[in-house]
Amino acid sequence: MVYSVNPPMPELPEVETVMRGLQMRLEGRVLVRAVANRPDMRWPLPPGLAEALIGARVIGFRRRGKYILMRLDSGWSVLLHLGMSGRMVLEPVGKNAIMLHEHLEMETDDGWRIGFVDPRRFGSVDLIETAREDEHRLLSGIGPEPLEDAFTVPVLEAALSGKKTPIKAALLDQKVVAGLGNIYVCEALFRAGVSPQRLAHTVPGVGARRLVPAIKQTLTEAIAAGGSSLRDYIQPDGELGYFQHAWKVYGREGEPCPGCPGAPTCDGVRRIVQSGRSTFYCARTQR
Ligand SMILES: [Zn+2]
Repeated sequence: MVYSVNPPMPELPEVETVMRGLQMRLEGRVLVRAVANRPDMRWPLPPGLAEALIGARVIGFRRRGKYILMRLDSGWSVLLHLGMSGRMVLEPVGKNAIMLHEHLEMETDDGWRIGFVDPRRFGSVDLIETAREDEHRLLSGIGPEPLEDAFTVPVLEAALSGKKTPIKAALLDQKVVAGLGNIYVCEALFRAGVSPQRLAHTVPGVGARRLVPAIKQTLTEAIAAGGSSLRDYIQPDGELGYFQHAWKVYGREGEPCPGCPGAPTCDGVRRIVQSGRSTFYCARTQR
């Protein structure tokens, strides 16, 4: 039985994939046109956004948590957040009319159009000086990047110590670790054999020693899957955004858990609701 879940929100691997797609098309290009089609998304668009984009050359990209930073040669960075439903559309200029819910359009000097489409408008766009990216109010409180060497067992243990929330909720907290959402927290907990219901402060020790590599492996594999499908997004009518990765437990209620001995003590992937969101896990192997 497959439990139908809401379309997944972009998490670190999806954001990384979108960023790499933008990088392939935009890095080194000059933006020759930029139009904001409405004054706000989740928050008001920054004043002077179009003026800051037009004539600037894109010199690089950086991802921080679920945020993309597009760096311009003017010393400014454009902060992009896909929110819940945001996606990027890349296509040759003039191929199609502007899409519904396309709130920001940009065009490059080599004839490509980049659209930020977001029906629900939980996404956001802002401008910040590149040298001060980490001071932005949306970035300043974010915890360590899970794929960087600085994300270690002692770092996770310190972040979890004293926390009375379930480990599931703790890992969703962007201050504990950056970029994880509902899907990859479920996947990493499954891989680590840690129950989503365990209180966070009990995880340091064996649990944390399993969890840190499990988080890194889960994300690395998902990014690799996104990267191998990037080619498809870059086709002329390509949309950058979502890819269906082979999740082990997420969305698989009732299916046998991969690698689990199963019956009689396990009847497959279970779904419970924690803080209003579905958690998928194996009650036998996750303790
Ligand atoms: Zn199982």
